Amino acid sequence: MNCRLKSVNQHERQSAKRLIALAICVLFIAGSLLSAAFIFTHIHHEHDHNAPNGGCTTCVHISAAENLLKSLSAALAGAALIIECFSAIRSLLKPVSLNTGFFTLIHLKVRLNN
Ligand SMILES: [Zn+2]
Repeated sequence: MNCRLKSVNQHERQSAKRLIALAICVLFIAGSLLSAAFIFTHIHHEHDHNAPNGGCTTCVHISAAENLLKSLSAALAGAALIIECFSAIRSLLKPVSLNTGFFTLIHLKVRLNN
């Protein structure tokens, strides 16, 4: 009973992790697309230099969107590099792990009758 409860709890935890990963992915894509859309739609705007500090508010927002895209692309490149490094290390270690497997009676399928 306790073991089954633990299994259900682990399943709920896995589901929560997947949901959080999906939410982060959706937010990442939405942030990228909306920033790019804002830049494309407002790149040829009429400058309003009557805003506070003498700057154009649209230009300030375009700059913020560009900075967001730069930071998101840097994060994506870093994540891709890390994933590629782990994949390369894993592929290098895989042939070694085949030779150093467990040589137990169960793995060797030895029957112990008698
Ligand atoms: Zn402007």
